[in-house]
Amino acid sequence: MPTSTSTARPAHQVFGVKFAEHPKGTRGEYFHGSAAAPRDAVMPMDYFVWLIRTEAADIVVDVGFTPEMANRRLRTYFRRPSEALALLDVDCATVPWVVLSHFHYDHVGEVAAFPNARFVVQEREMAFWTGRFATRREFHRLVEGEDIVRLVELGLNGRLHYVDGEVELVPGVGVHLVGGHTAGTQVVSVATARGTVVLAADASHFFGNVCDDVPFAVHTDLPDTYGAFDTMHRLAGAPELIVPGHDPEVLTRFTPVDGLTGTAVRIA
Ligand SMILES: [Zn+2]
Repeated sequence: MPTSTSTARPAHQVFGVKFAEHPKGTRGEYFHGSAAAPRDAVMPMDYFVWLIRTEAADIVVDVGFTPEMANRRLRTYFRRPSEALALLDVDCATVPWVVLSHFHYDHVGEVAAFPNARFVVQEREMAFWTGRFATRREFHRLVEGEDIVRLVELGLNGRLHYVDGEVELVPGVGVHLVGGHTAGTQVVSVATARGTVVLAADASHFFGNVCDDVPFAVHTDLPDTYGAFDTMHRLAGAPELIVPGHDPEVLTRFTPVDGLTGTAVRIA
């Protein structure tokens, strides 16, 4: 990494690109407990892939899902995640690192688009989805068996980079186990010129989760969900640098990429 002195902090760039949406979601589906009211209030959800651009390489966070999955789950689909990243001149075939925040269907469906990447996963996430509770309905409905099998295969082929907790992948880019939403959910911290950005993925689907201290409706562990909020506040350079994983407002709160308004933003 280009550092002129030992104290120089890397200043990476961070982008988000939308590839799909669920325009008819409701507040009741998304918020836990009393915060779910009014339950039938429409609350659109967006689906993103994230790019960390370092001087050495592009690092991708999450890989979205396929058009077939969008049909099956009635999501509005605009482009494959690899096509979304191509809008930012990313060549997925040369990406060396892909961080998978967790194994739900909307985050791990397109691993095949990254033939030369190593996938960064938390050991606890793999243990959970190959363990005894993965078949229970409230967990199983959010994953696809074929995705989990593919991840196991990648592991057997040496393509998974297992982490148990916290690690700095390259200078200025860290992954952090937070759990809560799933057993091994991880968030990503990135040193940027604006300060440390935290890509929350599903540790905070919406700004209204982490900012208002309101958990999402789906979790394996409620205290850990709150703990994830604390961790993200500790890591982030400022509260506004915590980027939720599914909030349509990401596209208006951050700076649109030239020619891609409503599709891609530069976060830092
Ligand atoms: Zn998700």
